Amino acid sequence: MERILISACLVGDNVKYDGGNNKNPLIDKLLEKYELVPFCPEVEGGLPTPRHPSEQRGELVVNDIDEDVTDNFVNGADLAYNICMFLHIKIAILKERSPSCGVHEVYDGTFSHTIIPGMGVTAALLKRKGITVYSEDEIPKLLEEN
Ligand code: SF4
Repeated sequence: MERILISACLVGDNVKYDGGNNKNPLIDKLLEKYELVPFCPEVEGGLPTPRHPSEQRGELVVNDIDEDVTDNFVNGADLAYNICMFLHIKIAILKERSPSCGVHEVYDGTFSHTIIPGMGVTAALLKRKGITVYSEDEIPKLLEEN
């Protein structure tokens, strides 16, 4: 069974900044076809749960009390890529609009709920390294294709 790296919050792990999750209703369908490897770059990058929400601002990632958490995000992205290499993972499914995991959209860094086109730190690194990255919204497409 092919392995897929997946945002841990999408499988129901309570790793969101507010201590909740984003369990996706199609997880059981995915499990029929794939071995899922849940991973949360923000937690693995050293941030606690719950934590202050963060947004990308230019090259940096800052939280809503203006702390620079860029290093945590970069470390989490590096670890995600290391796991993909170690487990021969070529596909990732990531949570849209997260500053780590967003695939097509992210928040604009003003903490005003404004969405702009862009990628989270982990999503961008995985894509640069040749991993095929799907957003959660594209799970139906992935299930159809394979
Ligand atoms: S960093 Fe990714 S996996 Fe972790 S809570 Fe945010 S969206 Fe989910």
